Amino acid sequence: MLPSTLLSEIDFILPQWQKKIASSGLKTVGDLLFFFPSRYEDFSQFKKIADLSEGEIVTVEAVIEKITTQKTFRKRMLITEATVFDETGKITALWFNFSAPLKFLQAGRALRLSGKVSAKKNGTLFFQHPNFELISSWEKKLDSQEKAVSTGRLSPVYSESKKLPTFFLRRIIKKILPLFQPEEIIPQAILDSQKLIGLSDALSWIHFPPTPEKLELAKKRLGFEKMFLVQLNALQIKKTWEKRSAVTFPFQKNPLQDFIQKLPFQLTAAQKKTAWQIIRDLEKNRPMNRLLEGDVGSGKTVVAALAIFSVINNHHQVALLAPTEILALQHYENLKKLLLPFSFSVGLLTASQKIIQKNSQIQISQKIPQAIKKGAVDLVVGTHALLQKNVLFKNLALVIIDEQHRFGVSQRAFLQQKTSSMKDGQTETTPHLLTMTATPIPRTLSLAIFGNLDLSIIDEYPKGRQEIVTRVISSEERNSVYSFIKNEIKKGRQIFIICPLVEESEKIDQVKSVMAEFSRLKKEVFLTERLDLIHGKMKSKDKETVMRDFQEKKFDILVSTSVVEVGIDIPNATVMLIEGAERFGLSQLHQFRGRVGRGKDQSYCFLFSTSGKTTARLKIMEASQDGFRIAEKDLSLRGPGQFMGQAQSGTADIAMESLSDLKTLQSARLEAQRILAFDPELEKFPLLKKEVQKLKINMHWE
Ligand code: ADP
Ligand code: MG
Repeated sequence: MLPSTLLSEIDFILPQWQKKIASSGLKTVGDLLFFFPSRYEDFSQFKKIADLSEGEIVTVEAVIEKITTQKTFRKRMLITEATVFDETGKITALWFNFSAPLKFLQAGRALRLSGKVSAKKNGTLFFQHPNFELISSWEKKLDSQEKAVSTGRLSPVYSESKKLPTFFLRRIIKKILPLFQPEEIIPQAILDSQKLIGLSDALSWIHFPPTPEKLELAKKRLGFEKMFLVQLNALQIKKTWEKRSAVTFPFQKNPLQDFIQKLPFQLTAAQKKTAWQIIRDLEKNRPMNRLLEGDVGSGKTVVAALAIFSVINNHHQVALLAPTEILALQHYENLKKLLLPFSFSVGLLTASQKIIQKNSQIQISQKIPQAIKKGAVDLVVGTHALLQKNVLFKNLALVIIDEQHRFGVSQRAFLQQKTSSMKDGQTETTPHLLTMTATPIPRTLSLAIFGNLDLSIIDEYPKGRQEIVTRVISSEERNSVYSFIKNEIKKGRQIFIICPLVEESEKIDQVKSVMAEFSRLKKEVFLTERLDLIHGKMKSKDKETVMRDFQEKKFDILVSTSVVEVGIDIPNATVMLIEGAERFGLSQLHQFRGRVGRGKDQSYCFLFSTSGKTTARLKIMEASQDGFRIAEKDLSLRGPGQFMGQAQSGTADIAMESLSDLKTLQSARLEAQRILAFDPELEKFPLLKKEVQKLKINMHWE
């Protein structure tokens, strides 16, 4: 079997599964094997029945004494109960609404059970819904260990994003692995110098790790590989980017000074420095490709506005891209205030809104694309509606992408290659590109992640920014925090409550858990306050309505999942309460915290951890308000993996996320630079070239 072998040609996949695979989007054996687990369950601890205790996650090997099934009529539930024994004792296993055990299990057969040991009220231990695998012959335990996929080992759990159940993926991948001969992509010399394992072992071990150590080796190798490909691609893009030409915008002192004087505040030194870097880029005849990094509230928008002004004042167009309608709208409103006084026209283009405004004239129409094409709009703010084929520009010269980490590495790279397709009909120039992020990523790491970009960092806040009082809350203090919140609401303030992060494979639970928390708060805690709810599964229109209502103070408390963009300004919000705070990266917590403290009132951030215990890591939040310092700490505590996740949402997988040292990232970059230095087109490495090509092809808007 080759990576390109079609799954539809594999005869041991039954027709009913073939159908599901076809709709999952996984086509080839390669696709399947590169669909990595999102996490693992550890069933590697074996115990004798007599030694079990409540709460343990373990494996026992036993023989079935009897197995029965009952239907409970009231609850219409199917309960299957097996009693099993080993030489030390007996235990029961219960399965609810699950008929599979009946098909495979009969009295007298030997099996392995893996799962959590629960206890009944009277203290009797039992397994609730354990995984099971038959032992073909009681003596041949080793043989079963080889074949085991869900008991007695580190067992993979796959994301449900492909709608294929984990138990099926486990079995099919286990069967395919030994039949598969992967072709090594990474040159042997690099494998040797970086001490990486070969692809074949890496793939086996990422799915079925024999030991935690081998899992780490597999992750390291696969993480390196991905990063290596990303770097090769980035460096190649940088090369082609450098060959392109762009419209130059000579620095115009007077108009720019006029614009700056009309701002409602003084620019900070950091804003001046970064704006100057951008203005110098715009003077060049090569397209700018710069990342503007600045913490939440550091004032990136006005820096972008200076660049926008420089371009539109020179009769060229600018497009500003935001990841959500809410953010696009906010930018539109803010930039309008800054630009309308100069008689520029500003447009908003999202899936649901199409507006152009010049002076006091407002035009709402479907014909915005035509107006853009004619050059009748100077600045267009929008969501990825802006990237549709029918949106063409007369003379687009600057593209700005806000919260660029929300777009994913591949999407960004796509834009960098394709921005010229947002056609500037007359010339062969490429628009300048400015991307922005509020994720404070340490500079060393930024270089590794954003290999092809120049960096500008705003490392200073506007004056008068208030400290947000931050407290890690123990479970005993929960109620007093709720009273505190009620008091804030009495003063007319508003509150954010963020629900815990749940894993990708549990996305549906995310909605469930936020709903549950919402109704609990409503029924048990905030009986008279007004609450509303927002989560990722809502239509963007509905989300926007909720955010708007919150902005207009129609309710007091917004309960939200972490997946929802709360990047909107609510100056009246003074409390940010985060549940399950220990599950978030510190940088992410810092992001959330940045949602309050935007007005004049003292603001607060309360961190609740699931265990009710405070951890040293969370304590860092109490001590520091500086996003870059927090990021550095987080980098040293948890490694770069989590930043990778944030920096390239959507495309990070477990291998990538778990990259535990900066060195691996930097080596990937170094090796990529080295190899391109003597073979820029990778002609001598056809396999590698093909993989990088694939990366380029897969770059599309989702
Ligand atoms: P972010 O970097 O998070 O996008 P914004 O650009 O939205 O930050 O700015 C946050 C707030 O700070 C805005 O209300 C903005 O008007 C204000 N602001 C920006 N720069 C300054 C400054 N130099 N002095 C005072 N306030 C500023
Ligand atoms: Mg912003």
